[in-house]
Amino acid sequence: MRLLEEKINTDGKVLSENVLKVDSFLNHQIDPQLMLEIGKEFARIFAGEGITKIVTIESSGIAPAVMAGLYMNVPVIFARKRKSLTLVDDLLTASVHSFTKNETNEISISKKYVNENDRVLIIDDFLANGEAALGLVDIVQKSRATVVGIGIVIEKSFQHGAQKLKDLGLRVESLARIASLSNGKVSFINENVEELIK
Ligand code: 5GP
Repeated sequence: MRLLEEKINTDGKVLSENVLKVDSFLNHQIDPQLMLEIGKEFARIFAGEGITKIVTIESSGIAPAVMAGLYMNVPVIFARKRKSLTLVDDLLTASVHSFTKNETNEISISKKYVNENDRVLIIDDFLANGEAALGLVDIVQKSRATVVGIGIVIEKSFQHGAQKLKDLGLRVESLARIASLSNGKVSFINENVEELIK
């Protein structure tokens, strides 16, 4: 997605070979107009899949997921990372190790909101080693709903999450795919070049 790549180029900060900081438009301050375009793009990519729910994880998945939900006209459920006093219904849970925070969280959603009749799109802000996405897949599968696909805003393709998910037969669609963060520079996977060399 050209607009997103441009935003990453102008506003993203490469913190290390492995970590990109996008606090100015996605992870802290949020750019609503960009989120709207991201939501529209997910809706376009997954059109015709009969999606009935979107599942994401707090907090940075929520903005893109809500915008996608707006365009697809479906509810959005976000998995919680901590137990909540108000979330006391039967819970579906999975264990997720955080790449950036180096901590493991028990994530959960209420059984009430996802069931075997649902066709679920999972959305998250980043895909690195795939822990968060795999945790969400686990939760959705425990609900007996169908995982239709995984929509990612920024995939770091030099890490192994995307491959792990594809190896499970899951459809992964990422709006920006980063080939490398070496030398303080963001290099994207160029889809056009990929097509040419196929
Ligand atoms: P994974 O579970 O795929 O290893 O990592 C994905 C999660 O870690 C995302 O939900 C995101 O919050 C965080 N994350 C992973 N890599 C980055 C990164 O380079 N920058 C930022 N800002 N967050 C990241």
